[in-house]
Amino acid sequence: MAALQQPSGRRGKRLGAVPKLGESRDLMVAKPGRDSPMLYCGKRMAERLIHEILPVGMLACNCSIVGDPETGEALVIDPGDEVERVLGLLARHKLKVLAIVSTHAHIDHVGGLAKLHRATGAPVLMHADDLDLYRALPLQARWLGVEPPETIEVDGFLRDGDDVCWGGFRARVLHTPGHSRGSLSLYLPADLPEPGSDGVKALRLATPRLFAGDTLFAGSIGRTDLWGGSLDDILRSIHQKLLILPEQTIVYPGHGPASTIGEEKQSNPFLVTR
Ligand SMILES: [Zn+2]
Ligand SMILES: [Zn+2]
Repeated sequence: MAALQQPSGRRGKRLGAVPKLGESRDLMVAKPGRDSPMLYCGKRMAERLIHEILPVGMLACNCSIVGDPETGEALVIDPGDEVERVLGLLARHKLKVLAIVSTHAHIDHVGGLAKLHRATGAPVLMHADDLDLYRALPLQARWLGVEPPETIEVDGFLRDGDDVCWGGFRARVLHTPGHSRGSLSLYLPADLPEPGSDGVKALRLATPRLFAGDTLFAGSIGRTDLWGGSLDDILRSIHQKLLILPEQTIVYPGHGPASTIGEEKQSNPFLVTR
């Protein structure tokens, strides 16, 4: 499904009306309420990072591999498809996956969860508010006219304000509903100097990064006409949780090119008029 709001008059391939989510009982999914995992939160911040971005699947969902070359630990975000390519890159960098995070449960972002989990043993994490969407994967597949991918039990739920830690990294979970109810963004801040330090070691990870899923795109925002979508919610999420981040923050959207918070604040047509 096209993920972003299209400027008027330029619609891509037309799909049928969005079908209603039904109850599907044949899928094993953990119940909300389980504690969010604190994977490993050490004090050391990574000095370098490996960041591979692979557009995967027919909708070219940006899957990110973020690894710490020192510890060999990695986070994989949105393995929507083409898990062999993801595994190939992990092997090339000698990375072990500590966790797999879904920014939301649209099929183009979660299609490879089961395969990657089986290959790596890493826990699958998402926001609990997108469980119904994940349960409805067969319906999403039918709507798109594709084979339904294998599904899997979700290992843990991420909430707003949680930290996800791996290697020397600590990313903050931002619940940013609007594109879907359980859409989340992951914010990886720069390695700021400790108060009183001489600044020599400051800013080793010089630029903060935001993994925005289908909430914020370069020059657009996520579409809100799918299950649980809300224009009010997505605008509130973006204004209150994303645009307050440092302007130099690099935004990695779920599709298309990267941007920065500053750039989007200045020129995103869906945001500047408000
Ligand atoms: Zn998408
Ligand atoms: Zn989406």
